[in-house]
Amino acid sequence: MSQLPHVVVLGGGPAGCGAAHQLRRQGRARVTLIERQGHFGGNASSFEWAGQWLDYGSHRLHYTTEPAILEDIRTLLKGDLLERRRQGRIRLRGRYVRFPFKPADLLLRLDKAFASGVLWDMAAGKLGLRQRSSGDTFGDVLMASLGPTICDNFYFPYARKIWGHEPAALSGTQARRRVTANSFAKLLKRILKPVGGGMFYYPRRGFGQITSAYAAAATGAGADMMLDTSVDRLERVDAGWKVHVTQQGAAKVLDADYVWSTIPITMLARLTTPAAPEALVAAAPGIDYRAMLLVYLQLDVDRFTATDAHYFPESSIAITRLSEPKNYSDLTTPVGSTVLCAELPCAPGDPTWSMTDEELGHLVVKDIRTAQLPLVRPPVAVHVKRLRHAYPIYLTGYEKHFDAHDAWAASQPRLLTFGRQGLFAHDNTHHALYMAYCATECLRDGVFDEVKWAEYRRVFATHVVED
Ligand SMILES: Cc1cc2nc3c(=O)[nH]c(=O)nc-3n(C[C@H](O)[C@H](O)[C@H](O)COP(=O)(O)OP(=O)(O)OC[C@H]3O[C@@H](n4cnc5c(N)ncnc54)[C@H](O)[C@@H]3O)c2cc1C
Repeated sequence: MSQLPHVVVLGGGPAGCGAAHQLRRQGRARVTLIERQGHFGGNASSFEWAGQWLDYGSHRLHYTTEPAILEDIRTLLKGDLLERRRQGRIRLRGRYVRFPFKPADLLLRLDKAFASGVLWDMAAGKLGLRQRSSGDTFGDVLMASLGPTICDNFYFPYARKIWGHEPAALSGTQARRRVTANSFAKLLKRILKPVGGGMFYYPRRGFGQITSAYAAAATGAGADMMLDTSVDRLERVDAGWKVHVTQQGAAKVLDADYVWSTIPITMLARLTTPAAPEALVAAAPGIDYRAMLLVYLQLDVDRFTATDAHYFPESSIAITRLSEPKNYSDLTTPVGSTVLCAELPCAPGDPTWSMTDEELGHLVVKDIRTAQLPLVRPPVAVHVKRLRHAYPIYLTGYEKHFDAHDAWAASQPRLLTFGRQGLFAHDNTHHALYMAYCATECLRDGVFDEVKWAEYRRVFATHVVED
């Protein structure tokens, strides 16, 4: 290839923008990025409302970020990356304890029946007294390692809300990949030595500032970053791909040497010609994503509480988390106003998905009152965002369907799929960026190193999401 290859990147979230930036920075390719929304950042974006920057649900940059990526983020944000102490609380059996857990707090605040249940479960596990199931569901894995007290009071009701399925219907992979404290040993380690000492990083102007900075740097380095552009069809041709897109009503065809996709893998299969095998399209429902309603309430007070995020595993409360963005970047403005962001997972067919903003506002206010949090006056305004692809749902047997899609994508020449949606990975932003950096490493002198990519894929499989 005499000139640099042309890589068309699908999706402008952290994975797509990270790839566009790396490819241009390292001079490995010409880049066009296609994002269907009017902004970059995907699920990790921010937007302005009620005089504040707000995220799509609680987002923090974790201390487990690869040092090289963290250094790049620091440089790109030019002094805007803050280091903050976590100030979370979780409601367990009607009482609030600090989250991440603190030993003294647990001893003083947990109700005695719960604490003795946990101790008994720990002893029963050690002594081999717990009945073990031979199954490999989310429920089996956690019950075997943690016993009924933590499962019934925390993980199982939380799982029903987050993924919308019974623990027995979810794959054991969900417990291994999604639950950081999936054994007593790990739980104790996290209590005694929290990740990053209980600190996190946060950009001054909202979490989305990270991806916006990557997108701006990619543009500055010569990438063509197309917003409000949808991919209509990917046509395989001898030398690569013809990417059919529509930008603000105008159809365009882009000639690509490589297509790097970060959009949902099921969507990718539907867009491609020659068409993916019918069996693959039929398997698509086995790969499902949980949707999420984000309900923002503006309150006419300076601050609601000093907590950054409240977590609600209990089934009596519909929302899973309530965050106060002002507490993430320690903002003192706007004066006399703060915003709360409530996360309400659901399926797009659920009645809640199509509720009005006002109805959702009432629902969240009811939850806040049930949770006995200090809502002095009703909110002055409500705003709602809808995320269609919030969380991958690892139903039992999803591996077979995902593997079929993955094998199909791998069989397509010069097509790469990665990122949260592309690999159906319940990951963090730094994982999505890591994938983008690894993909770039694999493209040298116009040739993609499949062997190296396979090695990186094994590393991605070890990623465990942080809350
Ligand atoms: C509620 C919530 C809280 C989270 N909290 C944290 C946290 O605290 N810390 C953390 O590190 N991570 C957190 N995450 C995870 C983080 O948001 C993701 O890891 C990250 O967004 C993944 O980036 P991505 O680029 O792989 O995918 P996405 O962000 O999903 O980006 C995919 C992009 O593709 C675009 N797209 C889709 N289809 C098309 C199409 N046909 N054509 C063109 N474009 C298309 C989408 O519009 C989107 O912009 C959280 C996620 C959620 C939902």
